Amino acid sequence: MKRLILTLLSVLPLLVLAKGDKDNRLIIITIDGLRWQEVFMGAEENLLSDTKQVRDTKLCRETYWRSTPEERRATLMPFTWNTIAKKGLLIGNRNVNSMMQLANKTNISYPGYSEMMTGMVDETITSNNPVNNPHRNVLEAANEDPRYKGKVMMYGSWKSTRFAIHNEQAGIPASVSYEPNISKKQTPKLKLVERMMEGMPRFWGSEHFDAFTFAYALETLKNDHPKVMWVSFGDCDEWAHSRKYDFYLDAAKGTDAFIRDIYETLEADKFYKGKTTYLVTCDHGRGFGDEWSSHGSRTKGSEATWLMLFGKGIEALGETKECGPFQTQQVAATIASVLGIEFTPDNGTKLLPIEVK
Ligand SMILES: [Zn+2]
Repeated sequence: MKRLILTLLSVLPLLVLAKGDKDNRLIIITIDGLRWQEVFMGAEENLLSDTKQVRDTKLCRETYWRSTPEERRATLMPFTWNTIAKKGLLIGNRNVNSMMQLANKTNISYPGYSEMMTGMVDETITSNNPVNNPHRNVLEAANEDPRYKGKVMMYGSWKSTRFAIHNEQAGIPASVSYEPNISKKQTPKLKLVERMMEGMPRFWGSEHFDAFTFAYALETLKNDHPKVMWVSFGDCDEWAHSRKYDFYLDAAKGTDAFIRDIYETLEADKFYKGKTTYLVTCDHGRGFGDEWSSHGSRTKGSEATWLMLFGKGIEALGETKECGPFQTQQVAATIASVLGIEFTPDNGTKLLPIEVK
């Protein structure tokens, strides 16, 4: 039996968490609309020199321009390239045929999150409206498993994310878009963050700044010790739509640091240390060149997504090449595999978890 398991593991490197392993934790982090181009090549020269899209082009160049893509990407996302790339794996650099994309054809956010969490495409889901998802999702399946029951939580910047997992029906506590935090322990720190958020102008209407999502998530992880948490960031997408390339880059850099802080905090906590898998991905890509600010069914290239995995059970394969095309709808199966739970999407088609051979 042992030999059989070992054989299976060598073929499916991501399925290393055996069923019945009772002590798994999973942090899912999504970065709305961050392009694979910036993740894998860093800042784009034409855009950072454009005075219409950057406030101080000299400063932006000093901060983000380096002569090689490897230096540029490590400057933009140092934790990703100095730590995740060494400890885990990255999928989605199209320059080396590492391919991941959406299965849904809308290339917008709600259908992207729905695809990711329900493991299927519902062609009637075509808008970003905050309406409850009619389909069962993988976090709901986790919350029904005795190992994870009551230990699944979600924080998001954008209002519609909670509806994509229909969190109330699914019994998953969630807080999005200027809502109070959901920790069971209301510490002075959490109350201060909440107070600061209340005092902020509602710049994007239905979406608060990621700094608040980060602070809520970090404190709640420390206080409540959930076994599964989805942390959904949104600043990159908002700044991109406003065609503010410097702010978009700042948001990518800031999010990379948030991920580092979450990782370092959890790995210093014995509840999480060595027991936690981290999955980072996006809901859609964006266009090329001048179309960088948009995404949608008519924006070529905005179907391109990417994914990073690191932590417990993940092989240190680094930046993958010549693999895929994987689809974002396989993320649900990947989550189920990491948690060792059964999950069949509502359309009855069980997809394979994302695996790199
Ligand atoms: Zn968008």
